[in-house]
Amino acid sequence: MTLHALKIGPRVSWEDLRWLGNWRKRISPETLLQNAQVAHTLIEAGKQRVHAIAANEKFEFERTEGQLILVNNEARLIQLRDKLTTLKSWGVVASEISPEDVQKFEPGFNAPATLHRAIHIPEDEVGNCRQFALGVKKALQAMDVQFHFDTTVANIQSALKPRIYIRGSTQFHEFDHVVVCTGTRTHTLTQSFKIPMPMASIASYSLTARVKEEINAPRSALHDAHHHTSIVRMGKRIRVSCGAELGTVLSSRNAGTTRHLYRVLQEMFPGGADYSGSVQVWKGTMAVTADGLPIIGPSSQNGVWLNLGHGPNGWGMACGSAMCIAAAIGGRSSIVDLKKVSPLR
Ligand SMILES: Cc1cc2nc3c(=O)[nH]c(=O)nc-3n(C[C@H](O)[C@H](O)[C@H](O)COP(=O)(O)OP(=O)(O)OC[C@H]3O[C@@H](n4cnc5c(N)ncnc54)[C@H](O)[C@@H]3O)c2cc1C
Repeated sequence: MTLHALKIGPRVSWEDLRWLGNWRKRISPETLLQNAQVAHTLIEAGKQRVHAIAANEKFEFERTEGQLILVNNEARLIQLRDKLTTLKSWGVVASEISPEDVQKFEPGFNAPATLHRAIHIPEDEVGNCRQFALGVKKALQAMDVQFHFDTTVANIQSALKPRIYIRGSTQFHEFDHVVVCTGTRTHTLTQSFKIPMPMASIASYSLTARVKEEINAPRSALHDAHHHTSIVRMGKRIRVSCGAELGTVLSSRNAGTTRHLYRVLQEMFPGGADYSGSVQVWKGTMAVTADGLPIIGPSSQNGVWLNLGHGPNGWGMACGSAMCIAAAIGGRSSIVDLKKVSPLR
């Protein structure tokens, strides 16, 4: 997510503005590079872990391989080339292709006249996180892990061991360790930790429609770098997403953003999606930190850990972040330097 794509709404708070001030603060190029490498490691290690879990537990989930980044002008391409050089030095396979070549990977794609070049990243992946989560849940239930859905944690207190208080009950449950991963709804649980949580709740949109004609539909993922819009294929459906709003409510949708989702899909993949009745438009929030890295590590309370603030990459970083929190709790070395993602950084 880039800042110039961020819309500021009428409900913006002082906390949001403080976060925005920190976001705008210049981070040195070295720190930016280090942070990008941490994020890359979380995503790459997580990807391998996702594959290993699905293979070990013998479940399948919808997934495709390959992403195209669409670039509208030479200036943007030059900026991206710099990033690409860095990515390649980390082992990412990527190549620049012409607008005509895009159709070799995406036969249903209708290239806009403005398309200048595209970057093809064959090993990027799209995966259905809901199906993966259901597969993991089933495997864990077989190991006697208990899940309590529709249950609100009202409070967490820690003496020798952390205790969880459930809303509507005076009883508590005691554990050796508790990991708080409450997304954007974090404040009530973490205010007693006395650690500043430099996260903002940013809203974004997605549109999901059924595939109408296979031949006209996307095969994997495309990201339009100019409009900050992604189109991905998920099984028999197509999902388009875009938008970044600070200080807006979920019940109020921006009509322009919604129109944009429909227009981009129709223009880039005409005849690919079925708009008759099955379309879902969703506005959701994500917790975004000012430096773009998640918050993973110990809180100020004994045995209470935090795993928050993954921004637009929560699914991409999910297993990598889980590996970090497991390493931190177990006192083992981690896939990334835990100081970079520490709540106290
Ligand atoms: C439109 C849109 C598109 C996105 N696309 C992508 C994408 O393509 N790839 C990607 O990697 N990421 C994407 N993201 C980001 C991703 O959705 C988030 O980063 C991810 O959901 C964060 O996961 P989480 O589990 O940390 O938090 P959440 O998904 O927010 O889950 C937190 C959970 O905690 C529960 N909770 C909160 N408080 C309590 C409490 N007190 N007691 C009990 N439970 C509580 C909530 O009910 C919720 O179920 C997208 C986000 C949006 C909005």
